[in-house]
This record gives sequence, structure tokens and C-alpha cells, in this order.
Amino acid sequence: MRDFAAELADRKQAGLYRTRRLVEGPQQPGLTVDGKPLLSFCSNDYLGLASHPDLTRALCEALPDTGLGGASSHLICGHHRAHHQLEERLAEFTGRSSALFFSTGYMANLGVISALAGRGDTIFSDRLNHASIIDGCVLSRAKVRRYPHGDVDALAEMLAQTGGHKLVVTDGVFSMDGDVAPLGELARLCRTHDALLVVDDAHGIGVLGPDGQGSVAALGLSEDDVPLLIGTLGKAVGTSGAFVAGPRLLTDYLVQKARTYIYTTAMPPALAAATCASLDLIAGAGVRRQRLQQLVLRFRQEATALGYRLMASETPIQPIMVGDNWRALALSRALEDRGIWVTAIRPPTVPEGEARLRVTFSAAHSDQDLDRLLAALAACRGLLDSSSVAAAPVVPDRVGAG
Ligand SMILES: *Cc1c(COP(=O)(O)O)cnc(C)c1O
Repeated sequence: MRDFAAELADRKQAGLYRTRRLVEGPQQPGLTVDGKPLLSFCSNDYLGLASHPDLTRALCEALPDTGLGGASSHLICGHHRAHHQLEERLAEFTGRSSALFFSTGYMANLGVISALAGRGDTIFSDRLNHASIIDGCVLSRAKVRRYPHGDVDALAEMLAQTGGHKLVVTDGVFSMDGDVAPLGELARLCRTHDALLVVDDAHGIGVLGPDGQGSVAALGLSEDDVPLLIGTLGKAVGTSGAFVAGPRLLTDYLVQKARTYIYTTAMPPALAAATCASLDLIAGAGVRRQRLQQLVLRFRQEATALGYRLMASETPIQPIMVGDNWRALALSRALEDRGIWVTAIRPPTVPEGEARLRVTFSAAHSDQDLDRLLAALAACRGLLDSSSVAAAPVVPDRVGAG
């Protein structure tokens, strides 16, 4: 039998072992983690809505009408009015003809990509796309060509060399880098080469765009430009689930063909009602989006002045590039000793040699919270200079996933 224990030991040796931390209480910047208070800068709850009273109230108020369980898949008897209303709201919110509600973003990507591309087709996928896109590509059995990150010229060449049906898929906001894909150019290329463009805007929905409709809306792109828009609801929206928005023809097709839509139990319908309550808040959450902008701007100025290497990101995802796995773990641990929680993100989540601390901001962070982060970073800056850290690996018993 395969030596699983040896594989885990190797992982520990390489600084790649992942552990889970125990969180108590609602998700917010101040958390109790393994019994200790920590100030978190690693959540995707960008607007601070995950524990908003309007959302929990909407959930509780819906429960007597909907009950709890989804009971069956959408195609049997699980498609509740609450799900249907959410789909209509999502179509309206994104300015698309229709929307389809999935249980998670992971399942949406698997279902959409494997339904829309198959054997004999070619998928073009950005090298830094999310794991769920990579897995969807594998599941589709199509030929997969990964193009260099954001490189539209390289993609143009690949598209020109390839016949048959083509699908181009990209993150809108890249989850581990925070930059935005060149969506306007991608849309033009896809039109020229008759390729179907799919954008996964898990980290843009709620955060970017005039009313929080995401990176596609921020660039003024329509359903003609980006036919399929995928968004998740567990990040800035603060609830759970995902959606695919686009022309009725495509969402109808997905109802017939997307296996992760067809062969799974519908989400609790009350959750859909809570998500509608969140959408009510998001359009009017301009103040929260401005707050995020202020935090990001000040963080970038001051962390850069401290000598940290940031990435080309204007979004609430502000990774600090470190490189070495052990050094990233050491920095994460040193921050934790000062009460600050930022997880080290290591391969294979990011490319080899590009371990980083993924700092994320929430509109719920106060100026004092940011002061504390910057003071801790100032105190820990020396860790990136010394060569001692990389040479002396320690078993990472206190570091999180990623
Ligand atoms: C988080 C994420 C997903 C997965 O969404 P879940 O709803 O958490 O399953 C998909 N794509 C991207 C880019 C993500 O960051």
C-alpha cells in the first residue's frame, strides 16, 4: 500500500503541512482562535457582511416558511421559490438575462466548464486561475492550454493556432495576487476567435464596480462581451453558494448538462433569502467600498515604506511576497505572536518559490486595526533579511491552511 505517513512527513519537511485553526464566534476582524484573541487579516468577508444582523434576521424570518433542508436536487423537488427569487435578483444585480444558483463556487466552476467544453474542444486557462477552474478543466476532458498570467498576446497566438470549439476561462480578480484580468482585451480576443469567455469573479462581486457588480461591470463590459459570469456568495456577499449569470440559452443548457447542478441537493432555501437581503445591502454599500479603498491605499503606502514587497493589486487582496516557504511561515508566526492573523500561502496554491502572506482587508477593519497590523509588520521586518529562518525549519504546528 502507498506510504501515506511518509508523504505527510515529506510535506512537513518541506514546510507545506497544513493545519486547521479553531475559530469561535461570528466571522469578524476580532476572532477567538484556539482560545486566544487574534485580529484577522485573512478573511474574504470583504464588506463585513458575514455576521450582519440583516442577513441573520432574513435567514431566521425565512425559516418558518421554507423549513431547513433542501430535500432533493433542483430537478426533482428541491427548486424552491426562494431559490428562484434569488436567481431573478442575481440576474438583475449583474445586468444579465438570467442566473443559475449553485451550491458553491467550486461546484459552479466544475459544472460550467465540464458542461461547456468536452473531448475535442480546447480550453485556454490563465496560469494563475483558481484550483476549481483547473479541476473543471480536467473533468471536461477537453485539451487544456494554460497561458501566461494575463498575457493577451500569448493567448492571441494560441487561439490563432487552434481550431475547433474554444473556451477561455479566467479569474476576474485573481485570488492569491489581487490583480484584475485584462477583461476588455480578453473579450475582444474571444470575439475575434469565436471563443466563449467565462469569468470567475469570486473576489470582485460586491467589491468592484459602481454598485458592487464586480470586475466585469467595473470595466463596463456587457453580457455580449462576457457571456458567462460566475460569482460566489460566500465572500463579499457574506452568505454561501455561487451563481452563473448569462444568456438564457446558456443557463438553460447548464440546467440540462452541469452535473454539479443536477446531482446535488438544493441549498437550504432560507439561505437564498438571506442572500437576497445581502444584495439589498450591497448596492447601497458604497461607503463600505470607499472604506476598503482607504484601508488599501494607506496599507500600500506604509507597508511599502517599511520595505515590504507588495503586488500590483488595488483590491482588498494585498499579498506580501516572501518567496521561501519557511520564511513565510516564520513571518506569519511572528505576526501571530503580536496578535495579528495573516496566513502564509504556499505551493501548490501559489507557484513554487512564491510563498506569500495573503493580507486581506474588510470594510469592518478600523483605523486602529490597521495601525496594529502596520506596527506588527514594522516589528517583524527583520525576519525577511536574516538567512537564519530558512536554514532552521520548525514543525509548523500553529500555521493555517493555504
Ligand atoms: C473561493 C473561490 C472559488 C470557490 O468558491 P466557493 O463558493 O468557496 O466554493 C472559486 N473561484 C475563485 C476564484 C475563488 O476564489
